[in-house]
Amino acid sequence: MLLKELLFPSRCLICKKISKDVICRECLSKISVIKGPVCEICGSPIDKEGICYKCKISPPYFSKACSYALYDGVIRTAIIRFKFEKKKSVGVFLGKILGEFVLELAWNADFIVPIPLSKERLRSRGFNQSEILALEISKIVGIPMSLGLIRIKETKPSVNLNVEERLNNINRAFLLSDPNLKFKKVLLIDDVYTTGATTNEASKTLLDRGIKEVKVVTLAREI
Ligand SMILES: [Zn+2]
Ligand SMILES: [Zn+2]
Repeated sequence: MLLKELLFPSRCLICKKISKDVICRECLSKISVIKGPVCEICGSPIDKEGICYKCKISPPYFSKACSYALYDGVIRTAIIRFKFEKKKSVGVFLGKILGEFVLELAWNADFIVPIPLSKERLRSRGFNQSEILALEISKIVGIPMSLGLIRIKETKPSVNLNVEERLNNINRAFLLSDPNLKFKKVLLIDDVYTTGATTNEASKTLLDRGIKEVKVVTLAREI
């Protein structure tokens, strides 16, 4: 063991107990992993198997979406520290967890594509959180990552907007620059699924540009 490790042992991000992993086993066991019935299309937890009301009245452009956990407790804290305190190592750790989840889903896809940030947002944050997750997933499942989806317009934080404002807010926010994606199946990756509006708009852009099918996986989901 290195002297540095003896003097400053690494600690769990959440409980601060000594842990060789970013998040210790005990804290990992507290993550609200989504189990039980979810909407067959958008992946929202529902009372019984089937399709949720929202997808029945207005089906999304993506064919399927799924999230690893609810956006609360341990996963929420971890995502916030990763994004806003710029802790990339937390993102790599979360990406590995998500990679195992995607491996279990066994959805077939030709490319993994992260939801992009605009140039301005990327400059201020220093990295795209979804790209860090997508890269780890790509390594674990052995499907190449493409950065061909580009964001031309940043959406305002959507917490204070109503549904219509949210939809307008992201209209024509994406472009596709990778011709290799044409006729291929794409797995879109994002950190948090909120209303699904962002992933739906990105999916629409991809389908408009000849992508065969879009599925979505996110680390967490707000309900
Ligand atoms: Zn812990
Ligand atoms: Zn649904």
